[in-house]
Amino acid sequence: MKPKLEVQRVSYSYHAMEGETPALSDISFTADVGEFIAIVGPSGCGKSTLLSLLSGLAEPESGSILIDGRPVSQAKDTIGYMLQKDHLFEWRSILSNVSLGLEIQKRLNPDSRSQLIEMLQTYGLDQFQDKRPSQLSGGMRQRAALIRTLATKPDLLLLDEPFSALDYQTRLSVCDDISSIIRETRKTAVLVTHDLSEAISVADRIVILSARPATVKKILTLSFTCPDFSQRSSYKDSSHDGEQSHSELTPSDNPSSDDGHSTPPPPDSSADTDLTPVTKENPMLKQDSRILSPMERRNAPEFSYYFNLIWKELKCDDNHEPKNL
Ligand code: ADP
Ligand code: MG
Repeated sequence: MKPKLEVQRVSYSYHAMEGETPALSDISFTADVGEFIAIVGPSGCGKSTLLSLLSGLAEPESGSILIDGRPVSQAKDTIGYMLQKDHLFEWRSILSNVSLGLEIQKRLNPDSRSQLIEMLQTYGLDQFQDKRPSQLSGGMRQRAALIRTLATKPDLLLLDEPFSALDYQTRLSVCDDISSIIRETRKTAVLVTHDLSEAISVADRIVILSARPATVKKILTLSFTCPDFSQRSSYKDSSHDGEQSHSELTPSDNPSSDDGHSTPPPPDSSADTDLTPVTKENPMLKQDSRILSPMERRNAPEFSYYFNLIWKELKCDDNHEPKNL
């Protein structure tokens, strides 16, 4: 099956009077239909720049970005872009805020309006449809922003640190809510986050970027086999042949554990010869990654294992410490 999103050898620089700022260098990755990709990397490395290229707001200097095999410029209507700030307008009610995308696209009609009201009900905001944004909690506002984004029925969701303005407790629950909504509606999603835990708790794969200009350092494929990690067979991902400029990590790669995080027992390396590829056809991936909620993932033994892997990867990136993401 054709990937939903193909990013092929993309580079981008900002040009200003003061000079050139190279932001992205030779970035390649793909997202399959229904896949949840998280992008992590040091602060200022080019994550938001990458999302703005994916959304079509800016164009790559070299390389290409394809959505369903077409250039982004021909697929803009299929993209939903959600930013860190919810950008809800105070002078509009919640219902009128979530209608905005449809209104702009001239697709607001009695049918689409009643679908919106249904979505507000589903996501627990129906009692608030006549309220103003300032009368809602931070989590409710983020849900409203997501409904506004989903209302236009995008196939591809781009999320730029959408939870980072929220306090920790709210962030956990909103992240859980929103990622479940995205899973249930079977959207393809690309989430930029500085929060490693968030990335591990929601993504199918994590793209780890280097410091600016961002290059792809690793692509980590996640799989959870809660509750019994030790009974899982090991596997290696062989499904991303186009991504040769970086290595891919799976639990078969066993990092040493020297920083205090507990690491699940390493898979048996003797099983390397009959590794099961992680593909859409692999029922284990479907079963595990799809069913475990973000909260369940956080409690799974693989969680700290993946955390260690990414932490180490980011730590060896020059002098950038992961806390400075
Ligand atoms: P991230 O989202 O990873 O924190 P950004 O994509 O926002 O990083 O920015 C990447 C780099 O590009 C940063 O060094 C930033 O200063 C620079 N940059 C971002 N926007 C502009 C712009 N409009 N003009 C010049 N430089 C920019
Ligand atoms: Mg950013």
